[in-house]
Amino acid sequence: MIRNPKPIHIALMVSSILAIVVSLVMYLILDSNLIKVIVIFTLTSGLSFFLFFYTIEFFIYRKIKLIYKTIHSLKTQKYDAVLENFAWDKDPIFEMSKEVINWARDKKIEIEQLKKVADFRKEFLGNVSHELKTPIFSIQGYLHTLLDGAMDDIEVNKKFLIKAAKSTDRLSDLVADLLEISNLESGELRMNIDKFDITSLTKDVYEQFEVKAKQKGIDLLIKEGCNKPFFVLADKYRIRTVLVNLIGNSLKYGKLNGITSAAYYIMGDNILIEIADTGEGISQEFLPRIFERFYRVDKSRTRNDDTGGTGLGLAIVKHIIEAHHQTINVRSTLQQGTTFSFTLKASAV
Ligand code: ADP
Repeated sequence: MIRNPKPIHIALMVSSILAIVVSLVMYLILDSNLIKVIVIFTLTSGLSFFLFFYTIEFFIYRKIKLIYKTIHSLKTQKYDAVLENFAWDKDPIFEMSKEVINWARDKKIEIEQLKKVADFRKEFLGNVSHELKTPIFSIQGYLHTLLDGAMDDIEVNKKFLIKAAKSTDRLSDLVADLLEISNLESGELRMNIDKFDITSLTKDVYEQFEVKAKQKGIDLLIKEGCNKPFFVLADKYRIRTVLVNLIGNSLKYGKLNGITSAAYYIMGDNILIEIADTGEGISQEFLPRIFERFYRVDKSRTRNDDTGGTGLGLAIVKHIIEAHHQTINVRSTLQQGTTFSFTLKASAV
C-alpha cells in the first residue's frame, strides 16, 4: 500500500478496479467472448484512468495546492519568496498537513503570549487601583470629617489637615513612580550616557538624606579605600534615581543607629557598586520577588504607616540598570542587613 498516494496512483487503482468489474460482468453474466472482454477491459481502464486522473488532478489536487500555498504565504507574509521557492514536486497533501500543524502550533504560542500580556495588564490595573485607593480614601475621610464639623475643633483640625496632606504626598509619589515605570517599560527611553564620578554622585544623594539619616541615627559612609573618584559611563540622572531608591530604602528599613555604606570595585570593564545597610534584612524566600512591581515584604506596614513606599522603587531600579545592559543583585541576612550590588560601565579617567 502506498503511504502518500498521488493522483496518478489513485486514478490507476480506481480505473483498474472498474475495468476488472466491467470485464467480469461481460464475461460471466453477458457471456461475451475473450477478445471482446480484453478490448472492453483496455478501453474501460484507459478511458477511466484519464477521466479520474484529470478530475483528481485539476479539480481537487490543484485546489489543495492553492490552499497550501495560501496558508504558507499567510504564515510567512513573504508572498513572492514563497511563490519562487514553492516545492511543487513535493506531495502537497502531506506538506499541507505539516504546514497546518506547524501553523496551529505557532498560533497557539502566540495566543498564550497574548493571554499572558492580557493577564499582566489586568493584574497591573488591579494593583494600581488598589494602591491609589488607600491615599484617596484617607484624604476623602479627613476632608469630610473636617467639613462635618471637625474644622471648628481646634484640637483636631490641624492634625487632620496634616494627615490629608501626607496622603496627597503619597498620591503624588505614586503617580510619579507610575509615570517613571511606564516610561521605562514603553521601551522608548532615551539614555543620556555621560562620564561622571559615581563617588561624588553618592555623596550628593547622601546630602539629600542627611536629615532623615540623623533622625534615625544612621551613619552614611563610603567604605574605606573607596573614597576616591570612580568614573562610569551611564545616564547620570537615572543612576541618581537608582541611588536615591537604594539609599532611601537603607534608611527606611535600617535599624536605629545603624550604618549605610557605599563601596566601589573595579571588575574588568565594569565598576561594581554596592549599597549596604545594617537593617532588618530580607528573608531568603522573599528575595527573588523584591524587584517585582508593588511587591512588599511586609505589606501592611509599608503601605499604611509613615515609611510607606510605593512598592515600585526596586522595579524602577532594575529597569534602569537593565536599560544600561547591566545587572543588579541583592544579598541579605535577617536582622543583619541587606546589600544591593549593581554594575556600570567603567570609563577611562
Ligand atoms: P517600597 O516602596 O515598599 O520600599 P521597593 O520596591 O523599594 O518598595 O522595595 C520592595 C520591598 O523590598 C520593600 O517593601 C521592602 O519590604 C523590601 N526592601 C527593599 N529594600 C530593603 C532594605 N534595604 N532592607 C530591607 N528590606 C528592603
